[in-house]
Amino acid sequence: MISAGQPLPQVTENELKVMAYRDSLTGLGNRHRMREKVMAIAAERAEDPAPFTIGIANLDGFKPINDLFGSQAGDEILCQVAHRLKACIPDGATVTRHDGDEFAFLLPLVFEKNGAERLGQMIKEVLSAPYDLGDRNVRLSASFGFAIYPFAGEEFEELLKSAETALYRSKRRGRGQITVYSREIAQEMKRSTQLEQALRNAIIADTVEVHFQPIVRIRDEAVVGFEALARWIDADLGFVSPAVFVPLAEERGFIDALSDTLLRKAAEAALSWPRELFLSFNLSSAQLMDPGTAPSILATLGRVGLDPNRVELEITETAVMTSADTAERIIGELRHAGVRISLDDFGTGQSSLGRLRDFTFDKVKIDRAFVSRITTDRTSEHIVKAIIAMCDGLDLQVVAEGIEEKADADKLKALGCTMGQGYYYGRPVDAAATLRYLESHYRDFGFLECQRERA
Ligand code: C2E
Ligand code: CA
Ligand code: CA
Repeated sequence: MISAGQPLPQVTENELKVMAYRDSLTGLGNRHRMREKVMAIAAERAEDPAPFTIGIANLDGFKPINDLFGSQAGDEILCQVAHRLKACIPDGATVTRHDGDEFAFLLPLVFEKNGAERLGQMIKEVLSAPYDLGDRNVRLSASFGFAIYPFAGEEFEELLKSAETALYRSKRRGRGQITVYSREIAQEMKRSTQLEQALRNAIIADTVEVHFQPIVRIRDEAVVGFEALARWIDADLGFVSPAVFVPLAEERGFIDALSDTLLRKAAEAALSWPRELFLSFNLSSAQLMDPGTAPSILATLGRVGLDPNRVELEITETAVMTSADTAERIIGELRHAGVRISLDDFGTGQSSLGRLRDFTFDKVKIDRAFVSRITTDRTSEHIVKAIIAMCDGLDLQVVAEGIEEKADADKLKALGCTMGQGYYYGRPVDAAATLRYLESHYRDFGFLECQRERA
């Protein structure tokens, strides 16, 4: 311990500098070192800006390994990665570690895309050999993003950001992918930023709408509920699919605001439906990772005055898998309040059966991919049949999605599927048209009387 009056240990300015530029775990340089190197080479080439490349490698699935084997094993792997990288990069290149399992390279002699991809491929192979942890071997893959100077950025920060964007693309495409920042990526980034701004404004202006698609009992085609589907038409961009803007809102971190607006509108509309009809609402995967989701949904339902017992939330397997503990807690809280949970797009995810055992769901929605081929493709028919039998055994309700033809409906009825949804029964329409749909489809149930009583 150092107390007052005692001389400080002697550290020379030079040693301090070395420490500030070094990653103490692996002995590689750190981000400051990379910055210094990139600035130096950029200055060198300022007169006649000859290209050079920077790259980032990120290990795939490193965190679960760290959690499973302990951080000491994790550190050991990082050191072995550092060692391999140092040994395999070309002469004159620099490798550094930034944070966690992210490494960066400066490649003065890589000038274009093909060169970057070739080098990425080589490094990827080097990193894929097993890691020796004494009592066991571990295998890992890595994803890569590359950015070429000066096209992808003239300053270090910009160049690194481009490489990170490319890396993010790689990660989105799966494991072990290599992406070089390109004109197309730059353009797409620009487009999504425009889209993001427009969508943020639309949320504030309250112009994102919800449409409703009937879910029916196949036996007699009686409507049992509606699925809410987000709709947005921008003045300049035109119709934008929710399959585009929902993931964008997730990626840019404002899915909560979007989802809250949509749920409020959907719940308000559901108030004027007959009480026995449910409202089914889609939750995005990001929401299943956020512990604030259940209270916020219940608060919205409370404000609008819609009974949680009339609400179902649709979630997907991938969403449940990404952050299983949090997802389980959220599902538990919602079910406790009376909300039912359905597993959406069933059959397209990765580990469907395991999920059904680990979590408590109320309903399964069979994906359109199987339903649409049910009359023409034997395999799809068998899969649907198996899902229905399994749901029967597990006491789960089952809905077939994407029913477009009477023949599909007949087939599903024969297979014992109880509920269905699709263009054959009705397309998604706005709240007013939904009420008109109910007027013509719900007469038997005294719906008109119930509306008149309210008025
Ligand atoms: P999803 O949850 O699987 O929704 C069903 C999609 O299938 C909807 O597309 C619906 O319009 C479409 N569809 C329904 N019946 C048929 C049919 O018979 N044939 C065909 N070809 N399509 C049919 P949509 O509205 O474009 O939504 C796409 C996806 O966007 C949804 O897939 C859902 O994942 C997401 N989404 C939509 N609204 C919301 C929302 O409010 N919140 C969240 N988190 N996601 C939403
Ligand atoms: Ca859905
Ligand atoms: Ca679906």
